[in-house]
Amino acid sequence: MDFLVDEVQLWDGTDSPIQPRRSVEVRDGRIYWIGAASEWQGNRSNVRVIDGRARTLIPGLMDCHVHYSSPGGPDWIARFTDPLPELTIRAVELAETSLRSGVTTARDVGAPHSVNIRLAQAAHAGEIRAPNIHAAGTWIAHRGTYVAFARHFGESGELRAAIKAEIEAGADLIKVALAPWNENARPENSPEIPFDDKLLAVAVEEAHRAKFKIACHANDPASCHIAARAGVDSLEHGMFLEPADLQAMTNNGTYLVPTMSVWDAMLHYARTVGWPENRKKRAGDLRDSSRKAVSRAITMGVRIALGTDAGGGAARHGRIAREAELMVESGMDPRDALMAGTSIAAKLIGEPDRGTIEKGKIADLVLLDGNPLENISSLRLIAAVFQGGRRVG
Ligand SMILES: [Zn+2]
Repeated sequence: MDFLVDEVQLWDGTDSPIQPRRSVEVRDGRIYWIGAASEWQGNRSNVRVIDGRARTLIPGLMDCHVHYSSPGGPDWIARFTDPLPELTIRAVELAETSLRSGVTTARDVGAPHSVNIRLAQAAHAGEIRAPNIHAAGTWIAHRGTYVAFARHFGESGELRAAIKAEIEAGADLIKVALAPWNENARPENSPEIPFDDKLLAVAVEEAHRAKFKIACHANDPASCHIAARAGVDSLEHGMFLEPADLQAMTNNGTYLVPTMSVWDAMLHYARTVGWPENRKKRAGDLRDSSRKAVSRAITMGVRIALGTDAGGGAARHGRIAREAELMVESGMDPRDALMAGTSIAAKLIGEPDRGTIEKGKIADLVLLDGNPLENISSLRLIAAVFQGGRRVG
């Protein structure tokens, strides 16, 4: 579909200010022309014109951390072990929910049976309505830690083989999870985190040698310490990052994907579905730790990319606006929060043709009935979503 978004406020995804009264013409799925509305030379009777007045056009949003195979909610972990047909159907449905909320590109950073790889292929083939998905396949974790449905390894050879297997299966990036031993799984005299700095160095080397990005789950203090220093492309969650860890991330150019929606949603469910007092308290503590780490990361200039962890925690899909609100609540300028979910996310994901509105780029666009640079909650006011120049929401 070729079209013109006429007389709109334009935010192009960069640190430039918003520009009033612009028009943006899309042809063959790409941005064909951008300029002052008064200077557009085409013939209005030949093109679909979309009224942009009192609206803001921004680049399509990017969620760097989702799991479409789980719906989130109060028992999100149990949902990952639902029967395969249920996981599959749900992933298709939730990817569409995500797309309609303005997410035109997403990283699905872990699914049982690598459902996300097949989902990404179906999305790229145009078989389903979904974001442009980068799938990590199945999580890679040390045996005796993390979730039972991850791909487990015990030593470095097995770790390299696990990474190769994900790449062969069609993954677009590698996802590793550092975590303490599960209850009663810790052998005598073993370290607190068996996936230690040496093993993580092996994983980074193996992924980077294949020119794949590597995302690392770290949500306890020891894992945050290791992951911040390993040269991974992104550190996911990171609520226990100390200033020295954040400094190491700045030095390594490692992105932080804070997934604050998870703790926010946990607190919501703790209040509404009658969780026991200790679980409620834990949700509150995690929320506070996360805010502290993110506020520090902002001050210290760590690169931050937006990710909700919808499905992988209590956060549900289609709520990307909430993550941006939480970033702003933690001290981020609304423009920086928006860049975290567009141009900066594009750099982390590796999508040079997306993430900003520029002539020649892919026409992934979101039209809002409000100005998110003034009020970040305007991200909730979706008027239209375009993906590759097609209207999808
Ligand atoms: Zn996750």
